[in-house]
Amino acid sequence: MNAPGGGCQEDFDAQSITPDQARERIRAAVRPLDDAETVPLTAALDRVLARDRTAAIDVPGAANSAMDGYAVRGADLPAAETVLELIGEAYAGRPFAGAVGPGQCVRIMTGAVMPAGADTVVVQERARARDDGRIGIGAGERPGQNVRAAGEDIAAGAVLLPRGRRLGPAELGLLASVGAAEIEVVRRPRAAFFATGDELRAVGEALAPGALYNSNSHTLGAMLRRLGIDGEDLGIVRDDPAATAAAFRAAAARADVVLTSGGVSVGAADHVRDALEELGEIRFWKVAVKPGRPLAFGRLGGAWFFGLPGNPVSVMVTFCQFVRPALLRLAGESGPPPLELRATAREPLRKRPGRVEYQRGILRADGDGALSVTPAGAQGSGILSSMSRANCFIVLPLESGRVAAGAAVTVVPFAGLL
Ligand code: AMP
Ligand code: MG
Repeated sequence: MNAPGGGCQEDFDAQSITPDQARERIRAAVRPLDDAETVPLTAALDRVLARDRTAAIDVPGAANSAMDGYAVRGADLPAAETVLELIGEAYAGRPFAGAVGPGQCVRIMTGAVMPAGADTVVVQERARARDDGRIGIGAGERPGQNVRAAGEDIAAGAVLLPRGRRLGPAELGLLASVGAAEIEVVRRPRAAFFATGDELRAVGEALAPGALYNSNSHTLGAMLRRLGIDGEDLGIVRDDPAATAAAFRAAAARADVVLTSGGVSVGAADHVRDALEELGEIRFWKVAVKPGRPLAFGRLGGAWFFGLPGNPVSVMVTFCQFVRPALLRLAGESGPPPLELRATAREPLRKRPGRVEYQRGILRADGDGALSVTPAGAQGSGILSSMSRANCFIVLPLESGRVAAGAAVTVVPFAGLL
């Protein structure tokens, strides 16, 4: 398919839809799961909130000191030096029980609740403990300083986290700070996958001549785990219509999403597309994307089906571009799309018009922070090592031809994607 040298040849295919059209069709088809489950906070990392979570309490719960020092009345702050009577101490977790009257102060530690009457903290370095036990304070202090207001982080009654938010470390901390011990999250999508190909062997098996190890099941399983999904590996299926149909039925019965690799073209050994047509429904099967043009999406029983291409890089690219957004949507997540940046191509990039290409690149920031990108070696769809070397996709638009060195290109960092 790839003409050497690129030249002015084009690569359009009238039956292909664009990647954006494919993503839009997937988005329109896939509805978020509406099953929720309750998990303890300690098990909620990377789960997705099933409904808006409202804060039951203010955080902080009461005005408290941001510094070690003296709690005073702002009205007592002097134009010159003044001397205040020291009437007690306040520690975090051990408040001062009384009230601060005019001319008085309380020794206060960071995090201690502000005593009644006091609204300002003078830090200890700026106060002077006198021999007579009283506290001297100079000019230059501002009323209200060094105090954290009640509810300044989280206000009781406000939506703390919206439904659809994936729970990371910050979210777990926020939930803990309002005392949430149990969290209602969306059920995890179930995924099942298998590899197709008579040439494939599992790791640990001996390689016959012409055979190769099944790597796709491992990249797929790992990409699913990154999304918090324990995909079920249904192994290797032979290039045989009956075996393919049996595997389709088994997979559809146990998953929300079924993924396959290989066998999705129109060669004599390719049975995935036909099986989908026969047992389910094809929504599309050709996308103007490189790597990965044959890519079947459809319905299989109660499951969504993705027939990914066989080549190892195509599997990873099409997973990131089409399967991942579908799984996030199914999982109820409403996060932002992956970050797209602009970078300068350090080398010319080979490209023919007709397909959106996701080339593998190495993105770096120069001394002044400007981003530049180099291709991560050979770009063939079988060169899996390019995925390992790369840290970003270089996204070249459908109509684009060869890109000259020095041109600006769009890149999508792998961080968060893989
Ligand atoms: P196919 O689309 O089935 O023709 O597969 C295209 C190519 O991808 C095959 O020739 C294999 O070299 C490779 N391939 C297919 N499946 C796998 C797999 N599970 N692991 C590694 N390589 C694969
Ligand atoms: Mg095959």
